[in-house]
Amino acid sequence: MEIIEKNISAVMARIEHSAAKAARDPQTLQLLAVSKTRSEEDIQLAFSKGLSAFGENYLQEALNKIKSLASISAEWHFIGPLQSNKTKQVAENFSWVHTVDRLKIAKRLNDQRPESLGPLNICLQINIDNEPSKSGLMPDQAWDLAQSISELPNLCLRGLMAIPMARHDIDSQRRPFRDLRLLKEEINRQLDNSQKLDTLSMGMSGDIEAAVLEGATILRVGTDIFGPRTGKATL
Ligand SMILES: *Cc1c(COP(=O)(O)O)cnc(C)c1O
Repeated sequence: MEIIEKNISAVMARIEHSAAKAARDPQTLQLLAVSKTRSEEDIQLAFSKGLSAFGENYLQEALNKIKSLASISAEWHFIGPLQSNKTKQVAENFSWVHTVDRLKIAKRLNDQRPESLGPLNICLQINIDNEPSKSGLMPDQAWDLAQSISELPNLCLRGLMAIPMARHDIDSQRRPFRDLRLLKEEINRQLDNSQKLDTLSMGMSGDIEAAVLEGATILRVGTDIFGPRTGKATL
């Protein structure tokens, strides 16, 4: 068996085990394969083993892959830092953006989204540990941006995303994920029924279990599917 196939089975087993522990239906969890720096062959292999959503961080690299893998019906998620000069190509080529943290970017994505593609799915990136040098909104700014984005017709605000500081025991890993879940619930109390957030994009290779226990709906996993990243910078 190919190593990637084995890895996918192992990750799925971890997700199912944690879902059972949390009394959650594993169907409510989507595994997003983070494919930055990975070859088209590896992506194709993962696709053939049942993964259909891929997360990319670097625009040019992603556009090359999206183009040459057009024959597989993969869903592409942009999960890297997003500057204004890149919004057009992101709006035209992706189904999801997980890293929106200011209104200017959201407005550009809204204006540049081709209507034929339907609304672009959006997560707000939250700086859940309040780290000064990290990207993402501070939690107390999330409601204002959520409210503004909910009025943009070509965007569909789906939820919140976070990349917490690395922590090594499961109880400490759960804390920021719980904070993100509570923030989503607080925002949902103020949104209309038709606009409720349904997505928590949280959990990576090292903290899948903690994220599932705290209600993640999209797990962004790279290393534990494709192996350690070599070469290009990671983040
Ligand atoms: C690289 C990356 C991941 C995947 O991290 P792994 O530790 O390799 O699973 C998830 N989310 C984001 C935003 C990333 O940049």
